[in-house]
Amino acid sequence: MNDRHSKMKLLLATRSSGKIEEIRTILGDMPGFELLDLDDARIPADPAEDDLEPYDTFEENAHSKASYFQRISGMPTIADDSGLEVDALRGQPGVRSRRFAPLSETAGREDQDEANNRHLLALLEGVAPTRRTARYVCVAAFVEEEGRASLFRGTAEGVILERYLGTGGFGYDPLFREISLGRTFAEVSAREKHERSHRGEAFRALAAHLRVR
Ligand code: IMP
Repeated sequence: MNDRHSKMKLLLATRSSGKIEEIRTILGDMPGFELLDLDDARIPADPAEDDLEPYDTFEENAHSKASYFQRISGMPTIADDSGLEVDALRGQPGVRSRRFAPLSETAGREDQDEANNRHLLALLEGVAPTRRTARYVCVAAFVEEEGRASLFRGTAEGVILERYLGTGGFGYDPLFREISLGRTFAEVSAREKHERSHRGEAFRALAAHLRVR
C-alpha cells in the first residue's frame, strides 16, 4: 500500500493557513504519505463548519472536525483543536480561546488575536506573577475510513506575562512564556517553538502512530 508509487493521501482539515504551515513543518517528510489540505482536496468552505466545535473538551472538538471532513472527503483525516488554559481563570479561555474577546464574526485574525490578548491582560490585572500559570493544549485527531479515531494530546506549560515580548508566533504567543525555554513563543524561532509546543508534542505522537500502523 505505502510503496513509492501509491502514497496514502491524508487530509489535513483546517482552514487556518498558520496551522497548516505549523503542522506541515512539525510532521516533516512522511514517507508513504501525502498530506493534502482542504484547498488541495477542493473542499469548499461551508457554513456548517462554524458549528463543528460546540463541545467543552478539546478531544470532542478535534474528533468532531476530523469526523466531519472524513465523511465529506472519504479520506483518512487529521484535525486539531487547541487553546490556552489559565489557572487563575479556572481554565479559561480553554476551548473558547479563538473567540475569547467579544468581536464581530467578521473580524480578521490579527484583530481578534489582539483583542483576545488585551482581554486576557485585563482579566489578569493585579494577579501576582506566581499565580499567572497557564498551559497551551492541543489535541490532534486522526479519523480513518471506517470512522476509527485516534487522539493525541500535547501540552506546553508557561506563565502569562504582564506585557508583550517578541514578534513571532501568533495568538497568545507574545504573552506566553514557556517554562523550560524561559522565553515567550513569540521570541523564539518556529523550530524552537515546535520542539516545546503543545502542537509539536501532539503531532509528533500522531506521526509516530502513522509510521507503525
Ligand atoms: P482552534 O482553531 O479552535 O484550535 O483555536 C485555537 C486558538 O487557541 C487560536 O485561535 C489561539 O487563540 C489559541 N492558540 C492555540 N494554539 C496557539 C499557539 O500555538 N499560539 C498562540 N495561540 C494559540
